Amino acid sequence: MNLKDPSLLREAALVGTRWIEAGGAGIAVTNPATGELIGHVPKLGGKETREAIEAAAEAQKGWAARTAKERAGVLRRWFELMIENKDDLGRILTAEQGKPLAEATGEIVYGASFVEWFAEEARRLYGDIVPGHQKDKRILVMKQPVGVVAAITPWNFPNAMITRKAGPAFAAGCAMVLKPASQTPFSAIAIAVLAERAGLPAGLFSVVTGSAREIGAELTANPIVRKLTFTGSTEVGAELYKQCAPTIKKLGLELGGNAPFIVFDDADLDAAVEGALIAKFRNNGQTCVCANRLYVQDAVYDAFSEKLAAAVGKLKTGNGFDEGVVLGPLIDQAALDKVEEHVSDAVKKGARVISGGKRHALGGTFYEATVIAGVTKDMAVTREETFGPVAPLFRFSDENDVIAQANDTEFGLASYFYAKDLSRVFRVAEALEYGMVGVNTGLISTAEAPFGGVKLSGLGREGSRYGIEEFTEIKYVCLGGI
Ligand code: ADP
Repeated sequence: MNLKDPSLLREAALVGTRWIEAGGAGIAVTNPATGELIGHVPKLGGKETREAIEAAAEAQKGWAARTAKERAGVLRRWFELMIENKDDLGRILTAEQGKPLAEATGEIVYGASFVEWFAEEARRLYGDIVPGHQKDKRILVMKQPVGVVAAITPWNFPNAMITRKAGPAFAAGCAMVLKPASQTPFSAIAIAVLAERAGLPAGLFSVVTGSAREIGAELTANPIVRKLTFTGSTEVGAELYKQCAPTIKKLGLELGGNAPFIVFDDADLDAAVEGALIAKFRNNGQTCVCANRLYVQDAVYDAFSEKLAAAVGKLKTGNGFDEGVVLGPLIDQAALDKVEEHVSDAVKKGARVISGGKRHALGGTFYEATVIAGVTKDMAVTREETFGPVAPLFRFSDENDVIAQANDTEFGLASYFYAKDLSRVFRVAEALEYGMVGVNTGLISTAEAPFGGVKLSGLGREGSRYGIEEFTEIKYVCLGGI
């Protein structure tokens, strides 16, 4: 790979205070667009995870004892290094994940923004002084770091899902042991290289690559770990929740979604099409906030579907390194199979393909950007997250009815709708049972805002001033005899 700084692509894991080289063995990481080998990372397990946890506990004490300003300074430097190296980090990301280079570099900037934001928030972790309940008493409330944090992250955002956790954890004075997704470990390792350069103390941040089961078992069972933060599927999240129960860990879970995207008849249709392209096709439909069900009101259904199908027909699919490509490959064969199944199930039950609808001529795990019309409740796309470039269109007539349909899912992460009428905007925003609502926009994620879901979509919030609270414990000090 052509990098300005080749040392950022490191075939090694960072375990506590030492790097463990892969030496040409371990887990092979390939480019999903071409199948080419990028390199190896070590296949580690419980023993190395324990070593990382113990080193984290050691490093965390000194880190928490620093002033918030000192911690902020190190994080600020880390942020700057990410920005200075964004082209290389973007190239590593495209190579292992497949998303187009511009989108990958965009993720690096977005990912870095969490480190910047939490460097700033570090200095604002204020406590309280509460009026006492007796004349001679005063009540103090302080916020302290939870301690050693375990993080398990997915392949769809190999950079930002890490910084969104590591930024607030380090800002609050915690240490972190990270297990990145095995499909995309090099992005994680590259930011660990930069963390070292930024002056993060040795042992504070480990990146342990290897068996999800073994590493996960140790991270969840080890009593030194006080919090687990996970982004991934609801299925694995529920398993980890269970594994954390005996040691009563705090949990942050960012799980699956099944986002509705509603277009009301008073919407600006061109803006809604543009929003749908972003909400549906970003990262080739492989995000947990991707629009999964597009509900369009009767009066605008035909116009919207024609405009959307035309716009989708122009999206270029290909290798993320090629000019003009906006949609990359799917991450693997299983992802491709799921997309194919969802489309064929819908067509079998009466839906019509109005754009795309089959594997792409490029082969591999490429799939055409697809729009299907006439989708109904009984189809798999309605209930399950497709995680691919398929936009299913549902027709509706009544506002209450569409709200009921939108909420008729076990998930509750992102939702979107387009409307102009102000009272409708408030009514619908309040009625949607979701952690996040985008109104007249398809892009809601930002470091300043609280990201997270309700129901089976998870626990806790990431980003924003709420995001750092998740890495703190409240301590109450009662001062008597005053
Ligand atoms: P996705 O559908 O995004 O691949 P997963 O939930 O399967 O989501 O994986 C997300 C992360 O969780 C990855 O890092 C994966 O290796 C890890 N993981 C998967 N299964 C387990 C498990 N049983 N224990 C711990 N981590 C796991």
